[in-house]
Amino acid sequence: METIKDIAKKDPGGLIARAYAFAERAHKGQARKSGEPYINHPVAAAEILREWHLDDATVAAALLHDTVEDTGVPLETIRKEFGDEVAFLVDGVTKLGHVKYRGVNGVPATTGEGGGGRAAMAAAHKAENLRKMILALSEDLRVVFIKLADRLHNMQTLGALPPAKQRRIALETDEIYAPLAYRLGMHNLSGELQDLAFPFLYPQEYRWLLSSSKEHYEERMNYLETVRPKVEALLVAHGIHPRELEIRAKRYSSLYKKMLRHDMDMGRIYDLVAMRVIVDTLPECYAALGVIHETYPPLPRRIKDYIAMPKPNAYRSLHTTVIGPEGKTIEFQIRTRAMHDENEYGVAAHWLYKERTNPLANGGAAPSGQKLAAELKWVQQLKHWQEQFSGQSASDPEEFLRAMKIDFFQDRIFAVTPRGDVIDLPLGSTPVDFAYHIHSEVGNATVGARVNGAVVPLDRALKSGDVVEIVTQKGKKPSEDWLRFVKTAMARDHIRLAMRRKASAIRAAAAGSKSLARTELKLTVEDRVGLIKDISGAIAQSRVGILSFHAETAKGGVLHVNKVEINTNDAKKVERILAKLKGIKGVKDVGSRAI
Ligand code: MN
Repeated sequence: METIKDIAKKDPGGLIARAYAFAERAHKGQARKSGEPYINHPVAAAEILREWHLDDATVAAALLHDTVEDTGVPLETIRKEFGDEVAFLVDGVTKLGHVKYRGVNGVPATTGEGGGGRAAMAAAHKAENLRKMILALSEDLRVVFIKLADRLHNMQTLGALPPAKQRRIALETDEIYAPLAYRLGMHNLSGELQDLAFPFLYPQEYRWLLSSSKEHYEERMNYLETVRPKVEALLVAHGIHPRELEIRAKRYSSLYKKMLRHDMDMGRIYDLVAMRVIVDTLPECYAALGVIHETYPPLPRRIKDYIAMPKPNAYRSLHTTVIGPEGKTIEFQIRTRAMHDENEYGVAAHWLYKERTNPLANGGAAPSGQKLAAELKWVQQLKHWQEQFSGQSASDPEEFLRAMKIDFFQDRIFAVTPRGDVIDLPLGSTPVDFAYHIHSEVGNATVGARVNGAVVPLDRALKSGDVVEIVTQKGKKPSEDWLRFVKTAMARDHIRLAMRRKASAIRAAAAGSKSLARTELKLTVEDRVGLIKDISGAIAQSRVGILSFHAETAKGGVLHVNKVEINTNDAKKVERILAKLKGIKGVKDVGSRAI
């Protein structure tokens, strides 16, 4: 690939040459911590963006990305010299800025005074950082690409910084930038960032992994080298001509995460080294899979068709693990060249094929069209959340973070509507989450669910590929009980909203009634799903309103005390209600007192 210097030499009057000359002048005399001239950093970032096939304006903006912040060049000068587009990008990167970051992992939650202040600050910083990132994402993705290239180079040169700073930057990279790259479909970048952060975050584990996996890696590599010609001959014999048969070792960071899930047993990691088969066409992908399965028996439940059902970040490939020669397992990843490029470069790959306009700023009207817009639906969703949270996040950054972490950074599943629409949800989501993701009114009116044709409880965890049918009933209100099992912030927020509406309606009704009679019911219960619904149902049947509902855990943790305030002091009514409550499963003791 041409270097920035090559390009500057070839086309001295061009945008990239002028940006290079300008940045070199601006950073003159500045050095990085490693001692090398500062200009090496923006040049490296610009070269990374060239490798991702980004346009000249982005590359020029990368060359200039630290001039406003670090050398005091006014943005207006950039605009005069390089035009609105480059100035917009430089400004975007500058605004993303250098928010100090400490992370929230392992920091105790803010309960009470004292140690909480620091955690709250860290959470606030992280939330602030994320908000900025989301705003930039929804305005022009290229700003985020520049930031990612900037971060990649900073991680590649992290060794020169003092240890405390190394840890802070590595943590931020691992918690924000790598997941962000992943969600942008930039798999390779995401993995590389995690791998670069890993030795700084887990130095001991890293050393252990290096020494204990070396033999395994070498053994697997050698094995696959002997298998490669056999696989090639096999495919060719069936008329499939692979473009590439690449042997790929798993990254240390992801190997470590996987080993944590497998009792640190290296022998149980099937994809320590995988063979990547790149073919020309989509039918060839499936043909290759068939041929491989004919010769080498596949392991059950390890065939993954990410072509028919791509990951939410648009990753496409066929994966299978088979029993190869000598009875050893091999993971195959089969894909076309175009899929491969998209998997590696993610959203950035689309800049290859389209004109130099920003799809999001233009209401999604990009030439590569609906596909990109659809893939980036989550960007729009994030923007929407950001707007929802912007009012309250200043006072409650942790809530914002929690919602972000759960909805954005966690593993995802895909469930399918009976019409075939794919709903992308975090792992562990339930039919209620699914219902709210179709529409808030569907969620509110949910009374039941069928998964793959069978009736299931509403707290059932959904799996990828489940066909979920929601049964609704007009006028039905959500149950407070659902809050105990829903996984998405969207469902939780809607349920809470409905609860607040219901409570204020009851208060209004109570205030309007002639007497202000009230009774407090005290219930000792053994908690279970549906209990609160049964209790409130029994009270409602007696045409008595609930004024408040208060639950607390009794000593020992199993029993709970629920205090329910109702709007009557009619002794007969109270007696009837108590009798009904006693009959409910899980209710151990009931009592009442007039208030
Ligand atoms: Mn920089």
